[in-house]
Amino acid sequence: MKWFRKKNAEESPSEPKSPSEKKEQVELKDPVIENLHKRIEEAYLPDQILPVARDEYERLLKTEKSSPEFAIGQNYLEFILSLPWNSTTKDDLDLTRAKEVLDARHYGLSPVKERILEFLAVKSLHSRQQAKILLADDEVIARENLSIIFEQDGFAVRAVANGIEAVAAMENDPADILVTDLKMDGMDGLQLLQEVRRRWPDTGVIMLTGYATVKSAVTAMMKGADQYLGKPVNLTKLRDYVMELLTKNQRIQHLRGPVLCFSGPPGTGKTSIGKAIAEAMGRKFFRLSLAGLRDEAELRGHRRTYVGAMAGRILQGIEKAGVRNPVIMLDEMDKVIQDFKGDATSVLLEILDPEQNSSFVDNYLGLPFDLSGVLFIATANMVERLPAPLRDRMEEIEFSSYTLSEKQQIATRFLIPEQLRQHGLSPKDFDLLPEAVRSLIVDYTREAGLRGLEKQVASLCRKLARKTLADGEGAGVLTVEAADIKEIMGTTPHFNTAAKTEPKVGLATGLVWTENGGEILFVEAVKMNGNKQLILTGSLGEVLRESAQTSLSFLRSNAERFNLAPDFFEASDIHVHLPAGAVTKEGPSAGITIAIAILSMLTDRPVRPDVAFSGEISLLGEVLPVAGVREKVMAAARAGIKTVILPKQCDYAVRSIEPEVLENIEIRLVERLDEVVELALI
Ligand code: ADP
Repeated sequence: MKWFRKKNAEESPSEPKSPSEKKEQVELKDPVIENLHKRIEEAYLPDQILPVARDEYERLLKTEKSSPEFAIGQNYLEFILSLPWNSTTKDDLDLTRAKEVLDARHYGLSPVKERILEFLAVKSLHSRQQAKILLADDEVIARENLSIIFEQDGFAVRAVANGIEAVAAMENDPADILVTDLKMDGMDGLQLLQEVRRRWPDTGVIMLTGYATVKSAVTAMMKGADQYLGKPVNLTKLRDYVMELLTKNQRIQHLRGPVLCFSGPPGTGKTSIGKAIAEAMGRKFFRLSLAGLRDEAELRGHRRTYVGAMAGRILQGIEKAGVRNPVIMLDEMDKVIQDFKGDATSVLLEILDPEQNSSFVDNYLGLPFDLSGVLFIATANMVERLPAPLRDRMEEIEFSSYTLSEKQQIATRFLIPEQLRQHGLSPKDFDLLPEAVRSLIVDYTREAGLRGLEKQVASLCRKLARKTLADGEGAGVLTVEAADIKEIMGTTPHFNTAAKTEPKVGLATGLVWTENGGEILFVEAVKMNGNKQLILTGSLGEVLRESAQTSLSFLRSNAERFNLAPDFFEASDIHVHLPAGAVTKEGPSAGITIAIAILSMLTDRPVRPDVAFSGEISLLGEVLPVAGVREKVMAAARAGIKTVILPKQCDYAVRSIEPEVLENIEIRLVERLDEVVELALI
């Protein structure tokens, strides 16, 4: 209280002289304000922050309590106080436990789990390294005293008497921190500093001297010392400096390691693995969905001059987590790049870069907050959409579509018991036979991941809950067979992505790789009287349009080979359409599908409906390789396709597909369009 009541202390509080003074006193006694002051003083705010908080508090005292400025100031102070400036959780880097946590929640995903455990192993090794301090001082007593103190603090300490010995010691084993006297025989502190800066730039240097003049301090700092202390040394300060430099150093070493980026279709376990990592490390977790973020202010906050200004989502999340080292999942990073007004990449790079994020400035807070302790994990459905600088900064871990048997295992072991529990039912009262689970997956969902299945299981559980209530207590274990599923769940939904059953002229089935995993897509072609126009519709991107042009040119230039009239395009227009018209489509991989649709239409030969294609076409009719082969083949299998035609050069990708996926699908690898024609047209 003394600190802000000083002005009034000399006067008797019982004798206010004017009404305004009276009012001020009443306000000063406001318990909320008094409490605010106490909290500011006791919050251990960092050195840079405390004076700002005090100034803000002073300003608040002078502000009319009923004015909007008062509320703004008060909210601001409350926000400063609510941030976890010093709170952290201690990392648990026990790999056995981490593996247990990852396994307990997730079936399969072995490569993903392996990579995560490697990542944690590196972190664990970093954190175990004992920090090394080198002391250079020609006074024996001084260096011995400091040696003992730092050894007690747990550092590996070496002590030498001058610069030459110090350089030799550094050559032998570079130290993390060098604490050196300025005046020494042989090579003095400044010469040593220059040598260290040149050869070991990562080593932190603290300069000590008995002649602590401003001039020598300035020289030392200009030559690259990180800190400067006069003798006799203030031990608390020296320790603080050492810790500060070490944290900076280690932080950079730690975080020079990549940021993990989980990529893959929705529902493949990216978020839940992220949560499991946080749990395994004993860290808090929060997910920041980037999809739908429109501008920088949402991430970084509005300046306080705006009415209703708030901090950005990053700091809000940190506030909620209550620690400054949570795991933050930056979800759907590829979406924000598309939708953002302004330069999302540079904001994200700043957040992820350890050299910049240690002083991340939110516009509302207006003060630096250290994000370097945060473990960021990004997710993206399609990493290909991320700009190169961001991709370079991250290490991608791919999550791919689940096979039917994986889905069946996950549903039986995790989703169904979990959903039953969430609906107030006991898993042991229900026995869903494998065929019933399979029916739920095959007949009621068609997706790469598990989100739809999770919803269907929830819907099933609601229905089971009703039945349980109707049957009454003690009705015994309820067995659900495949036939029951249809009865309980009703008619199966219609999927647009099912293979056609009838062969048709001018209609071919393509395979595409989208953010939802693989999908099938149809290509339609018709011809009408006209004047040599190729009409392309269905929200097609530039590359896809060019691909259609290429297909047509190849057919025109090889008309004879494909039994086409040489002038087939003379007095006609050709229209190629890719439903669904509202969905944007892009990429070269529909090349052969378009060529087959056009050729089918021109020759009046229908395309086999159970064949699907993916391959880029060259102007000379070669079939060129495409990406996302596994996802595409799985989508074909889900859709009921029997034969998939792929470029020969994709055989390496085909070989890595699980035999289970290939059980009901024949893969044909081709080099030229002629081969495709043989396989596809009836
Ligand atoms: P994403 O973040 O990739 O969209 P989620 O993590 O939200 O996917 O996963 C959707 C649901 O599927 C969650 O309930 C999750 O626990 C579950 N799930 C996904 N993969 C697995 C797995 N391998 N084992 C167990 N459950 C899984």
